[in-house]
Amino acid sequence: MADPGSALERLRVLHAQIRACTGCRLHVGRTQAVPGAGPSVARVMIVGEAPGATEDSVGRPFVGQAGRLLDTLLEGIGLARGDVYVTNVVKCRPPANRDPEPDEVEACRPYLDRQLALIRPRIVVLLGRHALERLLPGHGPISRVHGQPVIRAGVTYFPIFHPAAALHNRGLLSELEADFRALARYLESGPAPEAPPPSTAPASSAAPVEAGVDTSPPPGHQLRLF
Ligand code: SF4
Repeated sequence: MADPGSALERLRVLHAQIRACTGCRLHVGRTQAVPGAGPSVARVMIVGEAPGATEDSVGRPFVGQAGRLLDTLLEGIGLARGDVYVTNVVKCRPPANRDPEPDEVEACRPYLDRQLALIRPRIVVLLGRHALERLLPGHGPISRVHGQPVIRAGVTYFPIFHPAAALHNRGLLSELEADFRALARYLESGPAPEAPPPSTAPASSAAPVEAGVDTSPPPGHQLRLF
């Protein structure tokens, strides 16, 4: 039986709470909530906007077209999906893939905060303007600040265009690739010193939170995620 104080077990409990959440109107139209996926202790955490249609159907983040592009970009800098924890600002799909409303982002805020405290990433990759505004409010438009690391309290935030943006505007693909190369250089050169421990018990497990689940992206399309 898993240690109830372990990071893995606490993350499993948090995922279960998210799947049962009715904290905002987005629970009404979802097939299922999409808490996140990846190791319970990860050096790199990736935060997107919201689940799309494929994610809502499968229950895992970034499994559509944008997810496949994300995998390609990660592989290009020597990272596999299993190396990183991936989640979104809101955990349930907005209807017709509209932007999340401010009160929905606010209602979902504690879940992302708890994921950050449990996983304790040293680098948080912010995919697109919603993740940027949620974690670095007022920092500036993504078009101006992408590819430039920002260090806050021992954690490096790395804003990057959302992969879905490059699917809609192929002109952004080269910028997205350049941002990932900048991320790779940053990872190699040594990011910020380790963040102070969270107030809760220290993390003690790095096992995948959804061990045994097929992590290969299924066919299908992610309608909009940026
Ligand atoms: S989006 Fe977040 S707050 Fe809203 S129902 Fe889903 S898990 Fe709960």
